[in-house]
Amino acid sequence: MTLSKSEPTAIKQIKDSFPNLTTEHKSPVSEKDMIQAVRTLLLGLGEDPDREGLKDTPKRVVKALQFLTSGYHQSLDELLNGAVFHEDTDEMVLVRDIDLFSSCEHHILPILGRAHVAYIPDGTVIGLSKIARICEMYARRLQVQERLTSQIADAIQGLLKPKGVAVVIEATHMCMVMRGVQKPGSWTSTSAVRGVFAEDAKTRQEFMSLIRHNPNFH
Ligand SMILES: [Zn+2]
Repeated sequence: MTLSKSEPTAIKQIKDSFPNLTTEHKSPVSEKDMIQAVRTLLLGLGEDPDREGLKDTPKRVVKALQFLTSGYHQSLDELLNGAVFHEDTDEMVLVRDIDLFSSCEHHILPILGRAHVAYIPDGTVIGLSKIARICEMYARRLQVQERLTSQIADAIQGLLKPKGVAVVIEATHMCMVMRGVQKPGSWTSTSAVRGVFAEDAKTRQEFMSLIRHNPNFH
């Protein structure tokens, strides 16, 4: 983590004590200050934060952002809650079309998409719903799509020590759609492969063809 020189010591100390920002959360800024900051933002945009429709907006924005970044305060241990099992299988496990809602770290605007996650167990499996929960935990942080993709892959690799992991994320970035290049309908694809998926082209191709297949039942 890079800290600018102007950052007050108190903030630095708290950041130092929570280097991964994954567990207990102690914000160096009060909620009141955060609400005030959104109010300032509205004023800067030429709005009247006291008009009826905006009266509670600063509070709502803070609550929404806290929710959208709540993944900082979760850890894999809490999330898994022991849902890792021994199982003698080495067949590919694939969970596809996991809805993904994240926020880009450059604009704090939504990244909307889906993730496809596969792994080949080596004696240990995880509850299927937990794969979606792992994606959600990392998505609920300020992200770039590339990092989100590899964090999910590395989490599963670290937890299960499987023979391999593959993660593909297809997403659309509101900062591109609504501003900047304004390209609605543009999708960004990222992938992270570990173990046999990286080493063996055939396994990787099997995964790629499975995620391309679009089932008609929903
Ligand atoms: Zn952005």
